[in-house]
Amino acid sequence: MVMLPPPCGDFHPTLDALVAAANKHGKEQGYAIVKLRTKKRGDVVFKANLACARGATRKSSGQGKRNSSTIKCGCPFDAYAVRKKDTPGWEMTIKNGEHNHGPSSPEDLVVHRRADMTKEVRDEIRKFMDAGRKPSEIHTSLKSAAEAEGRKLVVNQRDIKNVQRIIHRETMATTSPSSPPPSDQPSHAALAPGSSATSRGPKSLQVRLLEQKIATQEAQLREKDALLREKDAQLQIARLEAELSRRTTNNDTQLPQYNPYG
Ligand SMILES: [Zn+2]
Repeated sequence: MVMLPPPCGDFHPTLDALVAAANKHGKEQGYAIVKLRTKKRGDVVFKANLACARGATRKSSGQGKRNSSTIKCGCPFDAYAVRKKDTPGWEMTIKNGEHNHGPSSPEDLVVHRRADMTKEVRDEIRKFMDAGRKPSEIHTSLKSAAEAEGRKLVVNQRDIKNVQRIIHRETMATTSPSSPPPSDQPSHAALAPGSSATSRGPKSLQVRLLEQKIATQEAQLREKDALLREKDAQLQIARLEAELSRRTTNNDTQLPQYNPYG
């Protein structure tokens, strides 16, 4: 199967918009485009070299088992984007539109998964986290929500875990703005020997604040749990009502007799 290069000739307001448009096309075709080097005039970027994600020579920082359908294979696809003074925006030129590999699934390409992790998706993850949901459950829920909208969810459970970690870190940072992690200031005690005694006061206040926060979150969780149970009950009622109406329309001359011993 030949993978078609992104359409050229359109102008895009920014370099990122150009790359996003190219990747929207690439996602359908089975590849992803990455920025390699950019050229600047003063502080302004005016050119960027683009490559296929499987052709870039940058070393991957990923860990663990590599998926064979996404391993870099020196793909020759070559393009660049320029912003000329006399044009209304960024334009792409393809130097070599061919790939030396078959199409990859968008789930396997980090570029597409990253693009799919929109602010809306992150907000959803945060809500699910607050409701105490596991990454696998969050993934299933997001997947069915996307399918209901006629989209395919590309982010995977590991992406969800990563976002959870970031959200968790942000939450910790906002809860304790005055105390950086101990690793950041290893020589703190040595610089100010008396500081441990003076920090006892605010620390207990912090503990109280954290306890309060936990209590609020637990209450929220209980509330959400009750809501979910209610929704389940409503669904069951709807199912039973549907079943009842199906039976009455199928069998409106004679309803099945209820036999308590049967
Ligand atoms: Zn390629």
